[in-house]
Amino acid sequence: MQDTKPHAAILASPGVGHLVPVIELGKRLVTHHGFHVTIFVITADSSSSAETQLLSSQNPNVLDIISLPRVDISGLLDRAASIVTKIIVMMRESLPGLRSTILSMEYRPTVLIVDLFGTEALDIADEFEMSKYVFIASNAWFLAITIYVPTLDEREEDDHVDGQKPLKIPGCEPVRFNDTLDAYLDRSDQLYGEYIRIGREICTADGVLLNTWEDLEPKTVKALRDPNLLGRVTRVPVYPIGPLAREIGPAVSNNPVLNWLDVQPTESVIYVSFGSGGTLSAEQTIELAHGLELSRQRFIWVVRPPLDNDASGSFFNAGNVADGMSSFLPDGFMGRTKNLGLIVPMWAPQVEILAHPSVGGFLSHCGWNSTLESIIHGVPMIAWPLYAEQKMNATMLAEELGLAVRSAELANGVVGREEIKKMVRRIMKDKEGYMIRKRMKETKDKALEALSKGGSSDESLSRVVEDCVIGLQ
Ligand code: UDP
Repeated sequence: MQDTKPHAAILASPGVGHLVPVIELGKRLVTHHGFHVTIFVITADSSSSAETQLLSSQNPNVLDIISLPRVDISGLLDRAASIVTKIIVMMRESLPGLRSTILSMEYRPTVLIVDLFGTEALDIADEFEMSKYVFIASNAWFLAITIYVPTLDEREEDDHVDGQKPLKIPGCEPVRFNDTLDAYLDRSDQLYGEYIRIGREICTADGVLLNTWEDLEPKTVKALRDPNLLGRVTRVPVYPIGPLAREIGPAVSNNPVLNWLDVQPTESVIYVSFGSGGTLSAEQTIELAHGLELSRQRFIWVVRPPLDNDASGSFFNAGNVADGMSSFLPDGFMGRTKNLGLIVPMWAPQVEILAHPSVGGFLSHCGWNSTLESIIHGVPMIAWPLYAEQKMNATMLAEELGLAVRSAELANGVVGREEIKKMVRRIMKDKEGYMIRKRMKETKDKALEALSKGGSSDESLSRVVEDCVIGLQ
């Protein structure tokens, strides 16, 4: 039977960090706006178990999830290609599969929403006369820079090439060019060209949905809407619809991490995690271990083997985790800290941890999902960005919003143990941490208000929905 609901298709980029907010967007369109939603995903042999689990745990009565046919991109890439380049190429090669799947659907979607790396699919929306939107899983700063850099690129002389000069993006605090996106630092890399293309293609959409809310970045959102500030690019309507963040899952019984948290004092634990795939160097891992130990603060640390550690292979062997870890943690560390903290190999139930009253701080790589999860649970942050747009998020959190502390030592490569101890104590013990926690809780209230019925993000998404439905008539 033909469904009479409006039908939106969402094209997701691979990776947990992209899938999480796309799924939340889909669920919101279904439960708040009466849409039927199909999410197209691209899976690969290299897909992580976290990705597979996230997809398989979705309720099929809420979301249709279709895996596009697998493509072989091995002959299309340099051996040194970055993970983001691989994702972009995989998305490009999946477009024929997307096109033929949409073509064969009896109940055709009338709206196509593409994630950042899927902007080439906007042509398919044109071909099938669908409305077309881009969903940025990140914030307004990220959108501003992504559509501003192509303008810079067109200038004959670019004085940002040394990376140090602050970039003044209209509506944003000045940010060191080195702190924007790694992709912009090497113009000869394929990724640079891909980002410039994406920046231009975004502006051809009917609108851009952002995983932020008006009140968090009012100046940037205003600048994005002002055709005099960002030039040609701002003709595209901008809709802040966030924060779209994962909710706590069904009660997890007998999870050792949560059981341990249950018996710790309120706001006494610092949670340390670098996202779905972040790793540190061997030297930095040692310094972090010592820093946590020196801080004498309770901790949960999601540990991954350093990429430059010879023993990292053995870490993955079931039953050999403790042996693997002792090869890259300081001698005796596990024994000395066994009453102080918990080491969790590879993956932890992050949202449930951040929601737990015993957690009082989050040392984070500042991926945008982690940031939103921290805000939604009112947990102050230590910003420790690694790659992608994380340095920009860290600048925004520490320098504009006052929701995090950040160490100047990060710019030197390795942050020393004394500095780590200091940062942990600043956030967990000092007046500074108290003030950040207070601001974080105020920000959380505003975030929830934006999402509630009649709030700015709820209204923004309603406007998109109205435009889509009008477009159908
Ligand atoms: N995550 C988790 N457990 C972990 C590590 C990560 O549940 O041990 C989740 C986290 O809650 C977030 C996502 O994975 O929803 C990571 O997304 P983010 O944007 O923070 O970083 P990315 O992984 O994209 O760098």
